[in-house]
Amino acid sequence: MGAVAQLVLKPGRDQALRRRHPWLFSGAIARIEGDPSPGDLVEVRAASGEWLARGAWSASEQLVAKLWTFDPDEAVDEDFFRRRLSRAFALRRRLWPHDPAGAERLVAAEGDDLPGVVVDRYGEYAVLQCLSAGADRQRELLARLIGELAGVRGVFERSDAEIRAREKLPETTGVCWGEEPPEAVEIVENGARFAVDLRHGHKTGFYLDQRVNRAVVAALAAGKRVLNAFCYTGGFGVAAALAGAKEVCNVDSSAEALARAGENFARNQLDSGTCEFINADVFSLLRKFRAERRRFDLIVLDPPKLVESRKSLMRGARAYKDMALIAFQLLAPGGTLVNFSCSGLMEPALFQKITADAALDAGVSARTLYRLSQSPDHPVSLRVPEGAYLKGLVSVI
Ligand code: SAH
Repeated sequence: MGAVAQLVLKPGRDQALRRRHPWLFSGAIARIEGDPSPGDLVEVRAASGEWLARGAWSASEQLVAKLWTFDPDEAVDEDFFRRRLSRAFALRRRLWPHDPAGAERLVAAEGDDLPGVVVDRYGEYAVLQCLSAGADRQRELLARLIGELAGVRGVFERSDAEIRAREKLPETTGVCWGEEPPEAVEIVENGARFAVDLRHGHKTGFYLDQRVNRAVVAALAAGKRVLNAFCYTGGFGVAAALAGAKEVCNVDSSAEALARAGENFARNQLDSGTCEFINADVFSLLRKFRAERRRFDLIVLDPPKLVESRKSLMRGARAYKDMALIAFQLLAPGGTLVNFSCSGLMEPALFQKITADAALDAGVSARTLYRLSQSPDHPVSLRVPEGAYLKGLVSVI
């Protein structure tokens, strides 16, 4: 192994790293001493030669390195990953007691000072996602340490997220430690049972980031007619139905997700007579419901990421507004809209404004009961505010 490559920054381009932000962009680099390959350790120095950080080189064109440590004495070795993983796992135990049948995010990448590393636990199985070349290089070590420290039977890798393409990493899925998980792993969340497909489900199988928000919706659902738009495998709908919703209308454009949602309702012994499952495009269906003068007391809008880049921000903003506007029109007097955006580029202030404009155009006066964000097992480093991607508003008219 050759010497560790040194990345020397341009004068004045060291502020972000001095604030311990773990991303290094190509524009900040004056010269590279050495020839690092993606995943290799690199060291970053200021223009003066002062040591700043140690991280991993990546093949991405702009975000060229993700930094593991800002401590010159901290080696990036097995002990390093053992410490970071242990700290992340211990943090979850401060949030809630260990539930062997539960599910939680055990490692939230930058939020746990492990850029590119995501680990979710579903009952007795963990799912590992390596989202950067640096994380990818450590996959075997990470899998073994997770297996040892998280008390699971197996670790399954789901490194198939789109973001890997930007880092020129191939898709990798399969068992990487211990036992093969069953086709469906049952988890219990706030008393609701869900089957999770670790191999093919979205993200690592389930939207764990909405855990706390599903409890908020459940608390508002008793006796209500609920529209669960973008229902995926039924998350908000099952929570609402278990909390005593009068009826729950679940909508998704994926027939497969909708079938899973139906199975999850059955899994919780929910009366199918009060639940609907509609395979449709939410945008068209909302218009159809409006034409039919159908009314709901509680509407959840949890669309996929509608803003993928700065260029699509305005288009996405219009879609969020359009949807919220019609949803407000579908609410019965005293009804509640719970709308979310998981687009990191959509700032909370803009989302608030969009929702306010939607209420105005719908001719309703609304007030916010809750401002929601991702569940606390998806912590956000104060140094990396970009990690706060999920926002939601609970507005009552
Ligand atoms: N609320 C869910 C997660 C929603 S993920 C939970 O708590 O688990 C977003 C979902 O929207 C996906 O299931 C996707 O299939 C669906 N979807 C995407 N575009 C859609 C559209 N235009 N109309 C209906 N569903 C859509």
